[in-house]
This record gives sequence, structure tokens and C-alpha cells, in this order.
Amino acid sequence: MSAATTRSRTPDRLCAEAVDLARAAAEETAAPGVVGEHVSLVSEGDRVVTHFFECKEPGYRGWRWAVTVARASRAKNVTLDETVLLPGPDSLLAPEWVPWSERLRPGDLGPGDLLPTEAEDLRLEPGYAGEDVPPPKSAIEETSHDLAERVEAEDAELTDRTPAETATNARGSIAAVAEELGMRRARVLSRYGLHVAADRWEESFGAKTPMAQAAPAPCVTCGFLLPLTGSLGQAFGVCANEFSPADGRVVSLSYGCGGHSEAAVMPKPPQPPVPVFDSLAPDVFPLHPEREGSVPEGALQDADLGHS
Ligand code: SF4
Repeated sequence: MSAATTRSRTPDRLCAEAVDLARAAAEETAAPGVVGEHVSLVSEGDRVVTHFFECKEPGYRGWRWAVTVARASRAKNVTLDETVLLPGPDSLLAPEWVPWSERLRPGDLGPGDLLPTEAEDLRLEPGYAGEDVPPPKSAIEETSHDLAERVEAEDAELTDRTPAETATNARGSIAAVAEELGMRRARVLSRYGLHVAADRWEESFGAKTPMAQAAPAPCVTCGFLLPLTGSLGQAFGVCANEFSPADGRVVSLSYGCGGHSEAAVMPKPPQPPVPVFDSLAPDVFPLHPEREGSVPEGALQDADLGHS
């Protein structure tokens, strides 16, 4: 028998010696020739021992055939319990399985894919809380109940529906009005949902990004910024500059890029200075400079006075 390892308790002697029985069981289960040397054995309990054999399958390097044998109390016969292929300490294992909901990454969703949102998703909360329902037996409840009954009865007279059918609409409630206006949504963003969205956008298109650090001015002063309504509008907007890396994305008001509407305003052409006249009289040039000295004195005086 090869070198044996034991747990805290001493393995049963007859079970430990049943290596041939264990090997025969392993070879019966495995393909021919893939059961290698006896590697070790462990005591699983009283008269229960597991024998390990090397697995020679190329794809299962480090795995071991584990054959468990046992013996009844006072019996001399060792019997077979089970045979399995188990990974050893150095075996190559597949990564731990992760549920798809945890594996999903932003951008994984493709056309036609459905991504169910959990009922307890922290990012969402009910769109209306039913707070418009008055307390039971209150004056408001009784008045509104009477009013609702009358409205339903009138409605039932004008339509084919019974009062019971019309009652399901809870006329006059905030939910019914919101539904009529097309505003009703079963769930809306919770405070937590708002925060995580804001953090995500700030990280991608916020003031700390290299693009914003090098921008000539922030988005809040840019003509391409579309404002958002709601509380997030105080910190974010949507970029509508097709040449910006943030086109169509939610950007922080302190983000910015080189496409800022006022970044490269064309300079106006320089205006020439107003001409300066130092004399209103014409200058006289002699026709024959060599005879300059022969110009009559009266003529020069006339020229200086602008009468020539
Ligand atoms: S163009 Fe640049 S500066 Fe203007 S809104 Fe878009 S990202 Fe902000």
C-alpha cells in the first residue's frame, strides 16, 4: 500500500487494506486505463475508509477517484459504498458559479432581452402610497363615500357597467386622477435610486473627469445644455452637442468639454484707427528738382497757403 494519510481517528485495518477492492470499483466506473496510483486514504468514521486514486484523464489533472469502503461491526467482509471523481488540492476547477442577475453588467441588455426588476428593488418605491385614502369612519371618508356612490350610480345608468364595476376605479382618488393624466406609474425612483444614479453620472460626466478638468468652462454656462426637471435638475442636465463625447448623456452641471458653446467665439476683425490729418494744405513738389532753387518765391508762398 502506498503512503497513507489519516484523519484524527485511526482507519479501520481491514478497510485500509481493501485497496484492490477499491481499485476494481474505480476501474469499473472510470474508462479503462484512467485510474492511476493509489494516492492516500482517509478514515471517514468507524470502519469507513475512503481510498484515493490518481486520475489519468488529460482533462482532469489533479482530480482523484475516491472509493469509500465500509465494514459492519464484527464482520470480516469489506463492502463498497460509493465511487466518485473528486478534485484534489491542485486540480483545475471552474470558477464559482454566479447567478445571472449578479453577472449582468451595464450594456449587456440587447434587443428583445427582458430584465425583470425584483419586487423589493431598493432603487424603486411605489408611485403612490395610498395616502389619499381617508381614515375609516372619518367625516371625509363618509362624504366621499356617499359622493362616490352617487357618481357610480349615475355612471352605471349612462354606461353598460354595474356600480360594482365602476367602484374599482376609486373615482376622485389621487391615483385615479394621476392615471387619467397619464402620470401614474406603479413604481418610481426611490431616494436611494436617485442617489446611485447621481453618483454614477457624476463619475462618468462629473467635475473630476479629465475632460472637465481641461474644459474651458462648465456645462452650466453652455448653450448645448438641456435642463432636467425634478430634484436632479439642480445638479444635472443633458448635453445636446453632437460633437461632444457626452452628446445625449446626462452631465453634471460642473462637467465641461472643448465643445462648450462659448469656447471658441470667433474674434471680430480689427477696426482700423481713425486717420489722423496733420495738415489741410497740399504739399508742393517741384517738377524739376534740379532747378529747385529757381522756383519763384511768390509761387511757394501761394502753395503754402493752398492757392496754387
Ligand atoms: S458641449 Fe460640452 S460643455 Fe456643452 S453641455 Fe455638452 S458637455 Fe457640457
